[in-house]
Amino acid sequence: MYAALLYDRNGLDGPGGSWCAARDAPRASEISTARRACYGPLVPFDAILGQSAAIATITRALERRRVHHAYRFEGPEGVGKELAAMAFAQALVCTDAGAEEAGAPGGSSGAADTRFGCGSCGACRRAVTMTATEPVVPLHPDVVLVGRGVYPPELIGGKKEASEISVEQIRRVVLSRTGYGPHEGRAQVFVIRAADELSVGAANALLKTLEEPPANTYFVLLTAVAEALLDTIRSRTLPIRFAPLSDDVLTRILRKNGVDEARIEAAIAGADGSARAALDATDPELTGQREAFVTGLFECLHAPDLGAAVRFAEAVGAERASVAVGLRAVAVTFANFARQDVVKSPSDAERGAVSYGLVLDALDALERNGAGALTLMNLIASLRAGRQARPGSPPRIVVTRR
Ligand SMILES: [Zn+2]
Repeated sequence: MYAALLYDRNGLDGPGGSWCAARDAPRASEISTARRACYGPLVPFDAILGQSAAIATITRALERRRVHHAYRFEGPEGVGKELAAMAFAQALVCTDAGAEEAGAPGGSSGAADTRFGCGSCGACRRAVTMTATEPVVPLHPDVVLVGRGVYPPELIGGKKEASEISVEQIRRVVLSRTGYGPHEGRAQVFVIRAADELSVGAANALLKTLEEPPANTYFVLLTAVAEALLDTIRSRTLPIRFAPLSDDVLTRILRKNGVDEARIEAAIAGADGSARAALDATDPELTGQREAFVTGLFECLHAPDLGAAVRFAEAVGAERASVAVGLRAVAVTFANFARQDVVKSPSDAERGAVSYGLVLDALDALERNGAGALTLMNLIASLRAGRQARPGSPPRIVVTRR
């Protein structure tokens, strides 16, 4: 579930060299505990590449000490939203001497970087260092992570959060804390990962606090599907837009993460501006999972009926991020079909190209509605219909919002 990206592994290495490979852990089942340990001891704003406009907005607010109490970081998966949220949290909880004297988030006008979190004091380090055991959350008690599946069911009322952030999580993790204010004195920061997954009840439970939070309490809602948030949530949060990353920035990120030059171009090609997708593309463990996704989807296309598709969609559809990763791999597969077949079989090539287009449509739909299983079902039905009908005119099923 980690949207954090350690863009600069070297920059995040502490003196002890105990950097933790938590660049990205979108799917708990895929990532070993060891890989989910922390962001690294330092997350300065300047480690976040390719988001100068968003970072300028945030740092300007900190500089002017006009920090809004509830932000909404919008943008595709894997472009630095959570990393920026953690840098923001550091700036607010940093107990560097200058900041502490100022007594207000934003810090003093002393050391220049103080306002942005010194990155080295105990508060800064604990803000971005994750616990080694479940729930995997920041060590700092005032930097509170909220997200579907972050907390084991026994801590949030006993129910597994299959597709939504439950109202119980909001009550037990957020509302129980806001009543008491910051634990360590400066500020309390709630980072809500994939806020579009808030259930209606959870969103409603948040509204009052979002509108009138206690002093020194801040919220950052992260989302790749801002349209899926309730209007009442949107109207109470200040949007900051994070853009897809350029190929140049992706290249720098891959290099800094030690990816072989020979693999960079291919990794970027299917990444759609997402550093997470590009890094995932070079991860052998995830490569196996992508291959399994592609194989599973193709089995559904050849199955006698849609039963296999229903089971496949239910099995893999819950995690939007992993569906997107899988679909990108499927798109690349169809693109390769189209290229290979164009000489020996033009009609197969055309079908490959049409299928490729359907997968891209599915990725768009996924970004709009966030409904992984439904989008997969729609795609598989369309691809199956396309296999039987003439290329270019496959019947479509309308994907509805969750
Ligand atoms: Zn600090």
